[in-house]
Amino acid sequence: MPSLYVHIPFCQSRCIYCDFFSTTALPMRERYVAALCKEMEERAKSADLSQPIPSVYMGGGTPSQLTFPQLHQLFDAVRQLFPLAEDAEVTMELNPDDVTPDFVAQLRSLPVNRLSLGIQTFNDNVLTFCCLYCRLAAINFLPHARTDYFFISNEWLN
Ligand code: SF4
Repeated sequence: MPSLYVHIPFCQSRCIYCDFFSTTALPMRERYVAALCKEMEERAKSADLSQPIPSVYMGGGTPSQLTFPQLHQLFDAVRQLFPLAEDAEVTMELNPDDVTPDFVAQLRSLPVNRLSLGIQTFNDNVLTFCCLYCRLAAINFLPHARTDYFFISNEWLN
């Protein structure tokens, strides 16, 4: 069963342990989103779209580094080009540091029903080598996100 993965390669800063491709060149976001929409258009022409797509995953990088107009542009393209199943799981990765109450409120305008939060670790020794602010931001974020609308997963380093 085909699924869709959309890679957003932008991060606020680079973590020393990370092997994923990402860049801090945030001014490139607008051009990247336009190119991504064009690429989806091309790929949709040759893809087997006879079955509804059960799963869309927007990962990175850090998708929450995009602006909401850019996120809407991407999700609009996904919905126009690909036949999503009625109950499709649509996941977006978030960096806790990006997620303010206002951000959570705007998230509801996107067709997202699952969040993957990059807390990474609550281990202080490990945090010394990555980012303490991530844990603090995550602790602040979770009460805002814990609703019956969103399912939340997390990425752990240990
Ligand atoms: S924020 Fe995530 S994708 Fe970006 S460098 Fe850190 S671990 Fe890698």
